[in-house]
Amino acid sequence: MHQEYPSFIDSDGHAIAVGTFYCIGRNYAAHACEMGAEVPKSPLVFLKPPAAFVPFDNAVLHRPDFSSEMHHEVEIAIVIGKDIPFDRNTGFESYIAGYGIALDLTLRDVQQKAKEQGGPWALSKGFRHSAPVSKLLSFDTYPHLTFFLSVNGEIRQKGDTNLMERPFESLIAYCHSVFSLREGDCILTGTPEGVGPLNAGDVLTATIDGYLSTHCSIAG
Ligand code: ZN
Repeated sequence: MHQEYPSFIDSDGHAIAVGTFYCIGRNYAAHACEMGAEVPKSPLVFLKPPAAFVPFDNAVLHRPDFSSEMHHEVEIAIVIGKDIPFDRNTGFESYIAGYGIALDLTLRDVQQKAKEQGGPWALSKGFRHSAPVSKLLSFDTYPHLTFFLSVNGEIRQKGDTNLMERPFESLIAYCHSVFSLREGDCILTGTPEGVGPLNAGDVLTATIDGYLSTHCSIAG
């Protein structure tokens, strides 16, 4: 595989080629509230292409020049390890390669314009390296995870998967029922409150309590 397009790495060190990102919006009520929005009746889903991925550890991230406001959204990622059969609608645990911590980087100014104009979110959400994801952790059953993001040593966001409006199983079931999930696809499960802008030179640390911590920075 070409070096510029890295893969997910599972807990055994195996590479998994990156597929499509299915990102869930407003899955934490307090974040929906801070955006002036309601928790949607059915899941809000948007996509990022495979080249949105970059390994989280030591990444140096760039804000595209068509934006002046890039926000952090820290989220738990679920990576699918093998194609899920069309007709399956439950029992997805054995199809999960692992869980990581991720950023759903968002060009808030570009997204706001798209919202006002009724346009798509592809530019604001799907740009190159908009989805840094850590190495993956494996669990036998759906885990309860707490996680946080600090910027320059100050905690900005704290998350607890028990506070998700829709739990892991239901997110996978919904995405699979609409899109069909395949090996390498990744669900970003939504961000807790506390999103905010990133500036040149910022150093970010994302942590899943008890399991892993990873760092990246914003290009100066
Ligand atoms: Zn998000």
